[in-house]
Amino acid sequence: MLDLLNLPGIEPVDIRASDRGILVIAEALEGTLPVCPMCAIPLQRHGRRSNLFADLPMEGQPVKVEVSRPRYRCGACGRMQVPELAFIDERRRASRRLVASIRERSLTSTFHALADETGLSVNTIKSIAQDHIDALARTVRYETPVIMGIHEIGLAGSPRCVVTNLATSTICEILESRSSKHLDPFFQGLADGRKVEWVHTGSLRPAHRAFLALLPRARRVLDPVHLARMVAGAVHDRSRWVDAFFDLYRIQDKAVALRAFKAWERSLPGDQSGEFCQLVRTARGQREAVFAYWDSPAPTAYAECQAGLEKLPGGMGYSFEIIRAKVLYAGEARKVGTGTGSIEPLEYGPHIPTLVTCGIF
Ligand SMILES: [Zn+2]
Repeated sequence: MLDLLNLPGIEPVDIRASDRGILVIAEALEGTLPVCPMCAIPLQRHGRRSNLFADLPMEGQPVKVEVSRPRYRCGACGRMQVPELAFIDERRRASRRLVASIRERSLTSTFHALADETGLSVNTIKSIAQDHIDALARTVRYETPVIMGIHEIGLAGSPRCVVTNLATSTICEILESRSSKHLDPFFQGLADGRKVEWVHTGSLRPAHRAFLALLPRARRVLDPVHLARMVAGAVHDRSRWVDAFFDLYRIQDKAVALRAFKAWERSLPGDQSGEFCQLVRTARGQREAVFAYWDSPAPTAYAECQAGLEKLPGGMGYSFEIIRAKVLYAGEARKVGTGTGSIEPLEYGPHIPTLVTCGIF
């Protein structure tokens, strides 16, 4: 029979097709009788043992291989032995080459598609993907940006925090949330926090700004994207002042913009309420961060990245951890714009997805 498996040490003896896939019956090739490592005498045949494992699909069908191996027993000490088949991943009940092919595709295909294709359970696919993610997490390091963005977007049912490199429009990290619980450990782990010169953020609450202390050279820019969001959709009778405030961003010169801001403040009505009040309070209270916008080397990059990030698919039933890995580690996402360091693997990170490239789910 044609050796359609091409696996060392076994040969196929039969093949059966069913609506569940292809079953290949195989037998281990027998050589000379093995010797007992304790007693140094040849072992005796002692029945056979069969194993079922999944292998690479053939003709679009899942493949299972049932391999039968001789079992040996030592006549002196009773020790039993079965010849090892190194190509089987015993934990997965699959060939190592199948596991490798699933790992390779686990971040670009859906788990259900891989399960259908291979005949393995979705949980087994998940577990193979998790091993792959853990390995990537140990080796992939994204470059610490000089101009950093801290964004909030909805993923897997909750607001998540995305750290971006605004100079290269790439993603560095996706944190579970924008709270200090997740921001602080990330920034504490940055060995080169001094590299960061600019941080564009939304309107972080004071308690959530502690991480800025870990970026000693960074100037914070409170991005107008978030100021606009503060008043977006609100029905208010203060649109004249809101428009006048955002008109400030059309002014090229910072000193002129500051003078216009002071004039705007003087023109404000006495009674301020709701979202408009919040805008006024933020603009006044965080004036330095608001006007750092005019000094930033990439003032509009944050808004562009934020718009790109909002095109990320929101979840599709995956957990946060898997979505994070699919965005951060999928080969397709990492292919673009990488620069590799000599000792530690270092890359710029995946490009901010656009409508064209976000089909990684
Ligand atoms: Zn023995």
